[in-house]
Amino acid sequence: MSDGTQDVIRLVERYSAPNYAPLPVVVATAEGAWVTDVEGRRYVDMLSSYSALNFGHRHPELVKAAKDQLDRLTLTSRAFHNDQVGPFLRDLAELCGKDLVLPMNSGAEGVETAIKTARKWGYDVKGVAPDRATIITCAGNFHGRTTTIVSFSTDPKARQGFGPLTPGFVTVPFGDADALAAAFDHDVVAFLVEPIQGEAGVIVPPDGYLRAARELCTTNGALLVADEIQSGLGRAGSTFACEHEGVEPDVYILGKALGGGITPLSAVVADTDVLGVLTPGTHGSTFGGNPLACAIGREVVRLLQTGELQERSKKLGEHMLTTIREANLPAVKEVRGRGLWAGVELVPDAVPARAHCERLLERGVLAKDTHETTIRLAPPLVISEEDLDWALDRILAVLEEAAR
Ligand SMILES: *Cc1c(COP(=O)(O)O)cnc(C)c1O
Repeated sequence: MSDGTQDVIRLVERYSAPNYAPLPVVVATAEGAWVTDVEGRRYVDMLSSYSALNFGHRHPELVKAAKDQLDRLTLTSRAFHNDQVGPFLRDLAELCGKDLVLPMNSGAEGVETAIKTARKWGYDVKGVAPDRATIITCAGNFHGRTTTIVSFSTDPKARQGFGPLTPGFVTVPFGDADALAAAFDHDVVAFLVEPIQGEAGVIVPPDGYLRAARELCTTNGALLVADEIQSGLGRAGSTFACEHEGVEPDVYILGKALGGGITPLSAVVADTDVLGVLTPGTHGSTFGGNPLACAIGREVVRLLQTGELQERSKKLGEHMLTTIREANLPAVKEVRGRGLWAGVELVPDAVPARAHCERLLERGVLAKDTHETTIRLAPPLVISEEDLDWALDRILAVLEEAAR
Protein backbone atom coordinates (compact mmCIF):
# COMPACT_ATOMS: atom_id res chain seq x y z
CA MET A 1 0.00 0.00 0.00
CA SER A 2 1.60 3.28 -1.04
CA ASP A 3 1.52 6.61 0.76
CA GLY A 4 -1.58 8.16 -0.83
CA THR A 5 -3.81 5.66 0.90
CA GLN A 6 -1.89 5.65 4.17
CA ASP A 7 -1.80 9.46 4.40
CA VAL A 8 -5.54 9.75 4.13
CA ILE A 9 -6.14 6.95 6.60
CA ARG A 10 -3.73 8.55 9.10
CA LEU A 11 -5.62 11.84 8.78
CA VAL A 12 -8.97 10.17 9.38
CA GLU A 13 -7.60 8.21 12.32
CA ARG A 14 -6.23 11.42 13.82
CA TYR A 15 -9.35 13.59 13.39
CA SER A 16 -12.37 11.31 13.06
CA ALA A 17 -14.39 10.27 16.07
CA PRO A 18 -13.59 6.58 16.31
CA ASN A 19 -17.12 5.31 15.63
CA TYR A 20 -16.19 3.47 12.41
CA ALA A 21 -13.65 0.84 11.35
CA PRO A 22 -13.53 1.17 7.54
CA LEU A 23 -11.68 -1.22 5.26
CA PRO A 24 -8.33 0.23 4.16
CA VAL A 25 -9.34 1.68 0.78
CA VAL A 26 -9.59 5.38 -0.08
CA VAL A 27 -12.08 5.98 -2.87
CA ALA A 28 -11.51 8.99 -5.10
CA THR A 29 -13.87 8.60 -8.05
CA ALA A 30 -16.67 6.31 -9.16
CA GLU A 31 -19.00 5.51 -12.00
CA GLY A 32 -21.80 2.96 -12.21
CA ALA A 33 -20.78 -0.17 -10.31
CA TRP A 34 -17.08 0.74 -10.19
CA VAL A 35 -15.01 2.89 -7.87
CA THR A 36 -11.37 3.96 -8.23
CA ASP A 37 -9.10 4.59 -5.27
CA VAL A 38 -6.49 7.33 -4.80
CA GLU A 39 -3.84 5.04 -6.29
CA GLY A 40 -5.84 4.35 -9.42
CA ARG A 41 -6.91 0.81 -8.45
CA ARG A 42 -10.44 -0.14 -9.50
CA TYR A 43 -13.03 -2.11 -7.51
CA VAL A 44 -16.55 -3.38 -8.12
CA ASP A 45 -18.83 -1.93 -5.46
CA MET A 46 -20.73 -4.88 -4.00
CA LEU A 47 -22.12 -2.85 -1.09
CA SER A 48 -23.69 0.20 -2.77
CA SER A 49 -23.51 2.19 0.47
CA TYR A 50 -26.04 -0.18 2.05
CA SER A 51 -28.46 0.30 -0.89
CA ALA A 52 -28.17 4.09 -1.06
CA LEU A 53 -26.48 3.54 -4.43
CA ASN A 54 -29.12 1.28 -5.99
CA PHE A 55 -28.80 3.25 -9.22
CA GLY A 56 -25.01 3.10 -9.16
CA HIS A 57 -22.51 5.87 -8.68
CA ARG A 58 -23.29 9.13 -10.45
CA HIS A 59 -26.21 7.85 -12.52
CA PRO A 60 -26.22 10.31 -15.46
CA GLU A 61 -29.90 11.25 -15.13
CA LEU A 62 -29.66 11.74 -11.38
CA VAL A 63 -26.51 13.84 -11.72
CA LYS A 64 -28.22 15.91 -14.40
CA ALA A 65 -31.27 16.51 -12.20
CA ALA A 66 -28.96 17.54 -9.35
CA LYS A 67 -26.84 19.87 -11.50
CA ASP A 68 -29.87 21.52 -13.08
CA GLN A 69 -31.34 22.10 -9.65
CA LEU A 70 -28.04 23.41 -8.23
CA ASP A 71 -28.20 26.14 -10.85
CA ARG A 72 -31.75 27.11 -9.91
CA LEU A 73 -32.55 26.76 -6.20
CA THR A 74 -31.22 24.62 -3.36
CA LEU A 75 -33.08 25.53 -0.18
CA THR A 76 -36.12 27.46 0.96
CA SER A 77 -37.02 25.68 4.22
CA ARG A 78 -40.71 24.87 4.37
CA ALA A 79 -41.52 28.31 5.66
CA PHE A 80 -42.10 28.90 1.94
CA HIS A 81 -43.10 26.67 -0.94
CA ASN A 82 -40.59 25.64 -3.59
CA ASP A 83 -41.45 24.41 -7.05
CA GLN A 84 -39.83 20.95 -6.62
CA VAL A 85 -41.46 19.59 -3.48
CA GLY A 86 -45.03 19.24 -4.84
CA PRO A 87 -44.19 17.20 -7.95
CA PHE A 88 -41.85 14.96 -5.92
CA LEU A 89 -44.46 14.27 -3.23
CA ARG A 90 -47.09 13.51 -5.87
CA ASP A 91 -44.84 11.14 -7.81
CA LEU A 92 -43.69 9.31 -4.68
CA ALA A 93 -47.25 9.02 -3.32
CA GLU A 94 -48.32 7.50 -6.65
CA LEU A 95 -45.40 5.05 -6.67
CA CYS A 96 -46.47 3.90 -3.20
CA GLY A 97 -50.22 4.00 -3.86
CA LYS A 98 -50.76 6.27 -0.86
CA ASP A 99 -52.26 9.73 -0.27
CA LEU A 100 -49.56 11.65 1.56
CA VAL A 101 -45.80 11.98 1.95
CA LEU A 102 -43.71 13.54 4.71
CA PRO A 103 -40.16 14.22 3.48
CA MET A 104 -37.21 14.15 5.88
CA ASN A 105 -33.46 13.61 5.39
CA SER A 106 -31.80 10.63 7.06
CA GLY A 107 -33.38 7.23 7.43
CA ALA A 108 -33.37 7.53 11.22
CA GLU A 109 -35.39 10.73 10.92
CA GLY A 110 -37.86 8.87 8.74
CA VAL A 111 -38.21 6.19 11.42
CA GLU A 112 -38.58 8.83 14.16
CA THR A 113 -41.27 10.49 12.06
CA ALA A 114 -43.13 7.20 11.66
CA ILE A 115 -42.92 6.55 15.42
CA LYS A 116 -44.32 9.99 16.23
CA THR A 117 -47.05 9.60 13.62
CA ALA A 118 -48.06 6.15 14.91
CA ARG A 119 -48.22 7.40 18.50
CA LYS A 120 -50.28 10.46 17.57
CA TRP A 121 -52.56 8.28 15.47
CA GLY A 122 -52.90 5.96 18.48
CA TYR A 123 -54.09 8.79 20.72
CA ASP A 124 -56.16 10.76 18.21
CA VAL A 125 -57.73 7.95 16.19
CA LYS A 126 -57.46 4.67 18.12
CA GLY A 127 -58.16 6.27 21.50
CA VAL A 128 -55.18 4.94 23.45
CA ALA A 129 -54.84 6.55 26.92
CA PRO A 130 -52.24 9.35 27.12
CA ASP A 131 -48.61 8.16 27.11
CA ARG A 132 -49.60 4.49 26.91
CA ALA A 133 -48.91 3.86 23.21
CA THR A 134 -46.79 0.79 22.53
CA ILE A 135 -44.96 -0.14 19.35
CA ILE A 136 -43.98 -3.75 18.64
CA THR A 137 -40.50 -4.19 17.15
CA CYS A 138 -38.41 -7.22 16.18
CA ALA A 139 -35.31 -8.76 17.67
CA GLY A 140 -32.32 -8.12 15.44
CA ASN A 141 -33.85 -4.95 14.04
CA PHE A 142 -31.91 -2.03 12.65
CA HIS A 143 -33.81 1.24 12.30
CA GLY A 144 -31.08 3.84 12.89
CA ARG A 145 -29.07 5.46 15.63
CA THR A 146 -31.12 8.07 17.50
CA THR A 147 -31.65 7.72 21.25
CA THR A 148 -35.24 6.54 20.79
CA ILE A 149 -34.38 4.11 18.02
CA VAL A 150 -31.47 2.49 19.88
CA SER A 151 -33.86 2.11 22.82
CA PHE A 152 -35.49 -0.80 20.99
CA SER A 153 -32.35 -2.20 19.38
CA THR A 154 -31.46 -5.69 20.61
CA ASP A 155 -27.77 -5.14 19.81
CA PRO A 156 -26.06 -4.38 23.14
CA LYS A 157 -23.36 -2.35 21.34
CA ALA A 158 -25.99 -0.04 19.89
CA ARG A 159 -27.68 0.72 23.21
CA GLN A 160 -25.27 0.19 26.12
CA GLY A 161 -24.02 3.46 27.55
CA PHE A 162 -26.70 5.55 25.88
CA GLY A 163 -29.45 5.38 28.47
CA PRO A 164 -31.84 6.42 29.84
CA LEU A 165 -33.71 4.73 27.04
CA THR A 166 -37.10 5.67 25.58
CA PRO A 167 -39.98 3.50 26.83
CA GLY A 168 -42.97 2.36 24.78
CA PHE A 169 -41.50 -0.51 22.77
CA VAL A 170 -41.79 -4.28 23.03
CA THR A 171 -39.69 -6.85 21.20
CA VAL A 172 -40.81 -10.05 19.48
CA PRO A 173 -38.66 -12.58 17.58
CA PHE A 174 -38.48 -11.77 13.86
CA GLY A 175 -40.40 -14.14 11.60
CA ASP A 176 -42.57 -15.66 14.36
CA ALA A 177 -46.23 -14.86 13.65
CA ASP A 178 -47.49 -16.57 16.84
CA ALA A 179 -45.21 -14.47 19.03
CA LEU A 180 -46.41 -11.39 17.19
CA ALA A 181 -50.06 -12.35 17.71
CA ALA A 182 -49.45 -12.72 21.44
CA ALA A 183 -47.86 -9.26 21.71
CA PHE A 184 -50.94 -7.22 20.81
CA ASP A 185 -53.09 -5.42 23.33
CA HIS A 186 -55.22 -2.26 23.14
CA ASP A 187 -52.19 0.02 23.67
CA VAL A 188 -50.36 -1.29 20.61
CA VAL A 189 -50.43 1.37 17.93
CA ALA A 190 -48.01 -0.14 15.44
CA PHE A 191 -45.83 -3.04 14.39
CA LEU A 192 -42.56 -1.63 13.06
CA VAL A 193 -40.74 -4.14 10.87
CA GLU A 194 -38.10 -4.50 8.17
CA PRO A 195 -39.68 -6.85 5.59
CA ILE A 196 -36.17 -8.27 5.20
CA GLN A 197 -33.69 -7.49 7.97
CA GLY A 198 -30.70 -5.85 6.32
CA GLU A 199 -28.13 -5.05 8.98
CA ALA A 200 -28.93 -8.32 10.78
CA GLY A 201 -27.47 -10.08 7.74
CA VAL A 202 -30.18 -10.13 5.07
CA ILE A 203 -32.63 -12.23 7.07
CA VAL A 204 -35.65 -13.21 4.96
CA PRO A 205 -38.71 -14.09 7.08
CA PRO A 206 -40.61 -17.34 6.46
CA ASP A 207 -43.19 -17.13 3.67
CA GLY A 208 -46.51 -15.88 4.97
CA TYR A 209 -45.03 -13.87 7.84
CA LEU A 210 -45.71 -10.46 6.35
CA ARG A 211 -49.21 -11.52 5.36
CA ALA A 212 -49.85 -12.71 8.91
CA ALA A 213 -48.47 -9.43 10.26
CA ARG A 214 -50.80 -7.54 7.93
CA GLU A 215 -53.81 -9.47 9.19
CA LEU A 216 -52.82 -9.15 12.85
CA CYS A 217 -52.39 -5.39 12.52
CA THR A 218 -55.75 -5.06 10.82
CA THR A 219 -57.65 -7.17 13.33
CA ASN A 220 -55.96 -5.49 16.30
CA GLY A 221 -56.39 -1.96 14.99
CA ALA A 222 -52.67 -1.23 14.74
CA LEU A 223 -50.58 0.21 11.93
CA LEU A 224 -48.26 -1.98 9.91
CA VAL A 225 -45.18 0.20 9.51
CA ALA A 226 -42.70 -1.19 6.97
CA ASP A 227 -39.16 0.14 7.21
CA GLU A 228 -38.21 -0.26 3.54
CA ILE A 229 -35.23 2.07 3.83
CA GLN A 230 -32.83 -0.69 2.76
CA SER A 231 -35.18 -3.30 1.29
CA GLY A 232 -37.23 -0.93 -0.86
CA LEU A 233 -36.81 0.86 -4.18
CA GLY A 234 -35.80 -2.17 -6.20
CA ARG A 235 -33.29 -3.86 -3.91
CA ALA A 236 -35.36 -7.00 -3.23
CA GLY A 237 -36.44 -7.52 -6.85
CA SER A 238 -39.61 -5.41 -6.56
CA THR A 239 -40.36 -1.79 -5.75
CA PHE A 240 -41.03 -2.80 -2.14
CA ALA A 241 -39.99 -6.00 -0.37
CA CYS A 242 -43.56 -6.25 1.06
CA GLU A 243 -44.82 -6.91 -2.48
CA HIS A 244 -43.30 -10.38 -2.39
CA GLU A 245 -46.25 -11.43 -0.18
CA GLY A 246 -48.71 -9.03 -1.80
CA VAL A 247 -48.77 -7.01 1.41
CA GLU A 248 -49.53 -3.32 1.59
CA PRO A 249 -48.36 -1.74 4.83
CA ASP A 250 -50.15 1.26 6.33
CA VAL A 251 -46.91 3.21 6.44
CA TYR A 252 -43.79 3.01 4.29
CA ILE A 253 -40.52 4.43 5.56
CA LEU A 254 -38.14 5.12 2.71
CA GLY A 255 -34.60 6.48 2.58
CA LYS A 256 -31.17 5.50 1.30
CA ALA A 257 -31.72 5.05 -2.48
CA LEU A 258 -34.46 7.70 -2.45
CA GLY A 259 -31.70 10.33 -2.55
CA GLY A 260 -30.09 8.69 -5.58
CA GLY A 261 -26.75 8.29 -3.79
CA ILE A 262 -26.35 12.06 -4.03
CA THR A 263 -28.18 13.58 -1.10
CA PRO A 264 -29.85 12.35 2.08
CA LEU A 265 -33.57 12.01 1.47
CA SER A 266 -36.07 9.99 3.47
CA ALA A 267 -39.85 9.93 3.57
CA VAL A 268 -42.82 8.55 5.42
CA VAL A 269 -45.64 7.61 3.07
CA ALA A 270 -49.19 6.79 4.23
CA ASP A 271 -52.85 7.61 3.72
CA THR A 272 -54.60 10.71 5.02
CA ASP A 273 -56.19 8.94 8.00
CA VAL A 274 -52.65 8.31 9.29
CA LEU A 275 -50.34 11.16 8.24
CA GLY A 276 -53.25 13.58 8.51
CA VAL A 277 -52.91 13.51 12.32
CA LEU A 278 -49.91 15.83 12.04
CA THR A 279 -50.76 19.53 12.06
CA PRO A 280 -48.54 22.61 11.58
CA GLY A 281 -46.02 22.85 14.39
CA THR A 282 -46.15 19.18 15.42
CA HIS A 283 -43.25 18.00 13.25
CA GLY A 284 -40.75 19.28 10.72
CA SER A 285 -37.20 19.59 9.46
CA THR A 286 -35.24 22.54 8.05
CA PHE A 287 -33.85 20.51 5.18
CA GLY A 288 -36.84 18.16 4.75
CA GLY A 289 -38.39 18.68 1.33
CA ASN A 290 -35.54 20.85 0.09
CA PRO A 291 -35.67 21.47 -3.67
CA LEU A 292 -32.30 19.85 -4.42
CA ALA A 293 -33.26 16.58 -2.74
CA CYS A 294 -36.76 16.69 -4.24
CA ALA A 295 -35.45 17.21 -7.78
CA ILE A 296 -33.22 14.14 -7.34
CA GLY A 297 -35.95 12.14 -5.59
CA ARG A 298 -38.37 12.81 -8.40
CA GLU A 299 -35.85 11.44 -10.89
CA VAL A 300 -35.36 8.39 -8.63
CA VAL A 301 -39.10 7.73 -8.73
CA ARG A 302 -39.04 8.14 -12.50
CA LEU A 303 -36.26 5.52 -12.80
CA LEU A 304 -38.47 3.08 -10.89
CA GLN A 305 -41.68 3.74 -12.84
CA THR A 306 -41.00 1.32 -15.70
CA GLY A 307 -40.22 -1.61 -13.38
CA GLU A 308 -37.12 -2.39 -15.46
CA LEU A 309 -34.66 -2.03 -12.59
CA GLN A 310 -36.82 -4.13 -10.29
CA GLU A 311 -36.88 -6.89 -12.97
CA ARG A 312 -33.12 -6.60 -13.35
CA SER A 313 -32.66 -6.88 -9.60
CA LYS A 314 -34.82 -9.98 -9.56
CA LYS A 315 -33.12 -11.68 -12.51
CA LEU A 316 -29.52 -10.85 -11.62
CA GLY A 317 -30.30 -11.55 -7.99
CA GLU A 318 -31.44 -15.10 -8.74
CA HIS A 319 -28.27 -15.56 -10.73
CA MET A 320 -26.12 -14.25 -7.86
CA LEU A 321 -27.80 -16.39 -5.19
CA THR A 322 -27.77 -19.54 -7.35
CA THR A 323 -24.11 -19.08 -8.29
CA ILE A 324 -23.00 -18.88 -4.66
CA ARG A 325 -25.34 -21.64 -3.45
CA GLU A 326 -24.44 -24.05 -6.21
CA ALA A 327 -20.71 -23.62 -5.61
CA ASN A 328 -21.35 -25.67 -2.43
CA LEU A 329 -18.43 -24.19 -0.57
CA PRO A 330 -17.50 -25.75 2.78
CA ALA A 331 -16.93 -22.27 4.30
CA VAL A 332 -20.53 -21.27 3.54
CA LYS A 333 -23.27 -22.28 5.93
CA GLU A 334 -26.16 -20.52 4.21
CA VAL A 335 -26.90 -18.01 1.47
CA ARG A 336 -29.93 -15.84 2.16
CA GLY A 337 -31.41 -13.16 0.01
CA ARG A 338 -33.93 -11.77 -2.40
CA GLY A 339 -33.25 -9.65 -5.45
CA LEU A 340 -29.69 -8.39 -5.81
CA TRP A 341 -29.19 -8.72 -2.09
CA ALA A 342 -27.41 -11.57 -0.33
CA GLY A 343 -26.18 -12.47 3.12
CA VAL A 344 -23.51 -15.14 2.89
CA GLU A 345 -23.40 -16.80 6.28
CA LEU A 346 -20.07 -18.47 7.04
CA VAL A 347 -19.63 -21.63 9.08
CA PRO A 348 -18.65 -20.77 12.68
CA ASP A 349 -15.02 -21.92 12.39
CA ALA A 350 -14.33 -20.16 9.07
CA VAL A 351 -12.08 -17.14 8.71
CA PRO A 352 -14.06 -14.12 10.07
CA ALA A 353 -16.21 -12.25 7.55
CA ARG A 354 -14.09 -9.13 7.99
CA ALA A 355 -10.97 -11.02 6.85
CA HIS A 356 -12.89 -12.24 3.80
CA CYS A 357 -13.77 -8.65 2.98
CA GLU A 358 -10.11 -7.61 3.32
CA ARG A 359 -9.12 -10.38 0.88
CA LEU A 360 -11.87 -9.33 -1.50
CA LEU A 361 -10.57 -5.78 -1.35
CA GLU A 362 -7.14 -6.98 -2.49
CA ARG A 363 -8.83 -8.57 -5.50
CA GLY A 364 -10.89 -5.56 -6.46
CA VAL A 365 -14.22 -6.23 -4.76
CA LEU A 366 -15.79 -3.98 -2.11
CA ALA A 367 -18.04 -5.90 0.28
CA LYS A 368 -18.92 -5.55 3.94
CA ASP A 369 -19.12 -7.98 6.82
CA THR A 370 -21.92 -7.83 9.34
CA HIS A 371 -22.04 -9.59 12.72
CA GLU A 372 -18.64 -11.34 12.31
CA THR A 373 -20.02 -14.25 10.31
CA THR A 374 -21.94 -12.72 7.42
CA ILE A 375 -20.76 -11.13 4.19
CA ARG A 376 -23.37 -8.81 2.77
CA LEU A 377 -23.61 -8.37 -0.99
CA ALA A 378 -25.70 -5.61 -2.55
CA PRO A 379 -24.31 -4.44 -5.90
CA PRO A 380 -25.89 -1.50 -7.70
CA LEU A 381 -28.98 -2.63 -9.60
CA VAL A 382 -27.42 -1.23 -12.79
CA ILE A 383 -24.42 -3.59 -12.63
CA SER A 384 -23.78 -5.46 -15.89
CA GLU A 385 -23.97 -9.23 -15.89
CA GLU A 386 -20.26 -9.43 -16.84
CA ASP A 387 -19.22 -7.19 -13.96
CA LEU A 388 -21.37 -9.18 -11.57
CA ASP A 389 -19.77 -12.42 -12.76
CA TRP A 390 -16.33 -10.85 -12.46
CA ALA A 391 -17.09 -10.04 -8.81
CA LEU A 392 -18.69 -13.45 -8.16
CA ASP A 393 -15.59 -15.26 -9.51
CA ARG A 394 -13.48 -13.42 -6.96
CA ILE A 395 -15.96 -13.95 -4.15
CA LEU A 396 -16.08 -17.70 -4.81
CA ALA A 397 -12.25 -17.85 -4.98
CA VAL A 398 -11.90 -16.11 -1.61
CA LEU A 399 -14.57 -18.30 -0.02
CA GLU A 400 -12.84 -21.39 -1.39
CA GLU A 401 -9.47 -20.42 0.05
CA ALA A 402 -11.04 -19.80 3.44
CA ALA A 403 -12.14 -23.41 3.70
CA ARG A 404 -8.62 -24.80 3.39
C1 LIG B 1 -29.88 2.42 7.11
C2 LIG B 1 -31.18 2.11 7.73
C3 LIG B 1 -31.80 3.02 8.58
C4 LIG B 1 -31.15 4.32 9.02
O1 LIG B 1 -30.86 5.17 7.96
P1 LIG B 1 -29.80 6.37 8.17
O2 LIG B 1 -29.91 7.16 6.90
O3 LIG B 1 -28.46 5.74 8.35
O4 LIG B 1 -30.24 7.12 9.37
C5 LIG B 1 -33.05 2.69 9.08
N1 LIG B 1 -33.65 1.54 8.76
C6 LIG B 1 -33.08 0.63 7.94
C7 LIG B 1 -33.80 -0.63 7.60
C8 LIG B 1 -31.81 0.88 7.41
O5 LIG B 1 -31.23 -0.03 6.64
